[in-house]
Amino acid sequence: MLTKDTAICIRAIDYSETSQILTFFTRDTGKIGAIAKGSKRPKSSFGGPFEIFSYGKIVFAESNKDKLSTLTEFEPALGSADFSSLNTNLFTLNCCLFGAELLNKLTHDYDPHPQLFDDFLQFLQNAQSSTSIKHPAPSNDILTLLILFQLSLLKETGLQPVLSHCVNCKSRSRPERSRRDASRDTRYEFYFSSSVNGLICRDCEAAFPDKIRLSPKAVNCLSNLKLLAGAKENTLKEIEKLLTLHFTETLGQKPKMAKYILSP
Ligand SMILES: [Zn+2]
Repeated sequence: MLTKDTAICIRAIDYSETSQILTFFTRDTGKIGAIAKGSKRPKSSFGGPFEIFSYGKIVFAESNKDKLSTLTEFEPALGSADFSSLNTNLFTLNCCLFGAELLNKLTHDYDPHPQLFDDFLQFLQNAQSSTSIKHPAPSNDILTLLILFQLSLLKETGLQPVLSHCVNCKSRSRPERSRRDASRDTRYEFYFSSSVNGLICRDCEAAFPDKIRLSPKAVNCLSNLKLLAGAKENTLKEIEKLLTLHFTETLGQKPKMAKYILSP
């Protein structure tokens, strides 16, 4: 049976002199593994070898479970949907590769998530345009895009963390605006615990050994994501570090790309 779908390549491995094994995240079918026979031949019907983030319409012959599908057609999306210029900025590329790695690890074959597909596509498009408009590419903007994608990935895979109140006692994390010296106000003292997937307040933290203390600014940003856009680099890095630890706990291993994002 032939299936047509919109797809983004999230992994590409050389299989032989002429063929590649690809992982696609498709909009309506979910993640699939496929072999592209002859994709590396000079006159390949696919228009050349696939690269990570190749994006367009694919047709594939579905296989039985545990076997690779066979790719039969590829029609690249036009214009702004060409992500080859992500290569021009290493940090942007690494953030997009990190997003792809997490997407691959947190989704299952043939488990469709159309909203997550749209979010991932938007992430790549925003990263691409933000990199091509400003020079040098604004790393804060790219980090913000990565954080937002990571949070939507957690949400769409059923792992949305609780970021608006203490998981244990439900006390709110959002401080009153009139308070100026946030750092001394104990109501700002919040922690994150991977084991309960969310925030823990000062009164409850003793019972959660895996908690990580968060700065008031990070708590603010996490409970109101619009604040990420104006956040300082150290706050964004704190949040990204937290999310990386959380993904490490969730997956049982540190994601490979993590070290390229938060290197000092
Ligand atoms: Zn509490």
